[in-house]
Amino acid sequence: MNSILNLARPDILSLQPYQHAAWEPTLERMHANEMPWRAAGDASTAGLNRYPEPQPEELINHLAQLYGVAPKNVLAGRGSDEGIDLLVRAFCRAGQDSVLICPPTFGMYKVSARIQGAGVIEVPLVKERGFELDVQGVLAAWREGVKLIFICTPNNPTGNLVDRASIEVLCAHLSDKSLIVVDEAYIEFANAPSLVSELERFPNLVILRTLSKAYALAGTRCGALLAHEDIVSLLARVITPYALPTQTIDAVLEFTNAEHCVESKERIALILSERLRLSEQLAELPLIRQVWPSDSNFILVDCFNPDAVLRAALSAGLIIRDPRSQPGLGSSLRISIGTPDQNDRLVRGIESATWSAA
Ligand code: PMP
Repeated sequence: MNSILNLARPDILSLQPYQHAAWEPTLERMHANEMPWRAAGDASTAGLNRYPEPQPEELINHLAQLYGVAPKNVLAGRGSDEGIDLLVRAFCRAGQDSVLICPPTFGMYKVSARIQGAGVIEVPLVKERGFELDVQGVLAAWREGVKLIFICTPNNPTGNLVDRASIEVLCAHLSDKSLIVVDEAYIEFANAPSLVSELERFPNLVILRTLSKAYALAGTRCGALLAHEDIVSLLARVITPYALPTQTIDAVLEFTNAEHCVESKERIALILSERLRLSEQLAELPLIRQVWPSDSNFILVDCFNPDAVLRAALSAGLIIRDPRSQPGLGSSLRISIGTPDQNDRLVRGIESATWSAA
């Protein structure tokens, strides 16, 4: 057994999980209190009258292939949001344990911890060094009860990749002490390999991947948690019995097939060229103070007058993200790369706001 499971909540380790209706596809189902007929017009593969297969084998095999791991290392859930939530619930005892995060970063790590009643320790990224991870700061802040350390790479909302060697240092130094949860939601937009190749080396490493970004499937709500098989088995005891809807399973299998992977690669290439074009054009605008380099499908900009930029976007019919409540982002806005036309409209909108302000 992976000794990292000693960090899990003892009551979860000894939990008798819910016994869902047995999955026996060769038998006719009279064991799950379902209707025996489909609704008229229901063309789904398995029939929406039936509960879906828990952790569907075909989907798990497919995700394992997509991400380059063995099926036993994959837990599929409703987006990486569910992966984050499961980890916090399975590892953090309310009022006793905590998670460590490196702000400014993705908001759900803190929210999930708060919902569970876990503490949140913050070790900010170093803005002066391009929002670099403060490895020594993380090691110094570590204390008993820090069960999870969330590292987002590329980081949302700053857009930068976190140094791989630094993450490996954390995995090695905290091998029996904490899970290092690496959120790679945007890794497909970065010119860098996933940390998935290090899973065998570090039994305390957990990787979160999502179909919501590069694969254009946010509406399916599907993500994958990749980890040592003992961690996957533990979390499978906590996840709701039939977590993934039949339509999600069908859509993910269809829209991540070989043909769609080619489409996804072409679209990523377009996002990357638009990222460069938009960054260069925004950097020329008088309302923009700084455009941060990005390894993702969004860019962070520091503005002289963020409210004017927000208003300019709105008048062009576009909404951009206001992350100013996060530490270090007092004058920043986050812009998701759109179509060439949307990007043009945004630049023109901010440019004309400059003129009208003059
Ligand atoms: N991680 C990061 C860094 C994100 O930005 C997001 C969504 N914006 C998520 C996880 C959640 O993604 P999902 O639940 O759609 O997989």
